[in-house]
Amino acid sequence: SRRYDISNYGHSGPLHRNFHLSAQKLQEAVKADDDKTYEFQAETRMLLDIVAKSLYSEKEVFVRELISNASDAIEKARYLAIQGTELDSSEATMKIHITTDKYSKTLTIQDSGIGMTKEELMDNLGTIARSGSKAFIQQLQEGGGADPQSIIGQFGVGFYSAFMVADKVEVYTKSRLPGSTGYCWSSDGCGKYTIEECSEVEPGTKIVCHLKVADREFADDQTIKDIIKKYSSFVGSPIEVNGEQA
Ligand code: ADP
Ligand code: MG
Repeated sequence: SRRYDISNYGHSGPLHRNFHLSAQKLQEAVKADDDKTYEFQAETRMLLDIVAKSLYSEKEVFVRELISNASDAIEKARYLAIQGTELDSSEATMKIHITTDKYSKTLTIQDSGIGMTKEELMDNLGTIARSGSKAFIQQLQEGGGADPQSIIGQFGVGFYSAFMVADKVEVYTKSRLPGSTGYCWSSDGCGKYTIEECSEVEPGTKIVCHLKVADREFADDQTIKDIIKKYSSFVGSPIEVNGEQA
């Protein structure tokens, strides 16, 4: 199996140095090409490189990861509403909508959950907070190399698993907290991402996976329904695939 050497990533200091930067510090730390482009944290870059190139055989688990994030986001919104927090479009049905498009080779997962502010986008999708991903990087550090097959299987890589099958991922999101702005986060997983304000975003989060040619099977609705049956039958919110209950 292929092994990865972390010395290729040009670190000047300990790998964990940037793990706990606040969004503001992070914003200062990233070298932006323009005011919309940001660089992933070094650890994230490393993780993404490995994930995107991995020959992990059960790529379909990315569907489970994205559905579980959608479900978590809906739970968070539900919890805040019960706590008495005012939320935008609280009447929205708490559903997870999945759409497949074979012609554009896209898989889209939309939720009416809590959504993300710009800061949250940068913190959550630009850095590694997830314990599984941290363990992944730690294993790389300690061993000087690691088997991605076993590590992806063992820890999972959350949101980043979308880059196993997609060569571009777009995240449209708008926090349900009143007065929030909508954003589009976009990345090809190769070191940088962009965040742009976007006016057409519905409260919650919509993730569009632009599938690699070799992974176009994930734009097939029956394939997606089968994966949902296999991994996500106990998700708390209803899931629809192309408008039909999955
Ligand atoms: P984990 O779910 O273990 O925290 P992930 O990599 O799956 O790790 O997701 C990272 C973070 O990104 C989540 O903790 C959450 O804050 C944010 N996130 C991901 N997907 C969504 C979503 N659909 N709605 C709101 N926030 C999300
Ligand atoms: Mg997750």
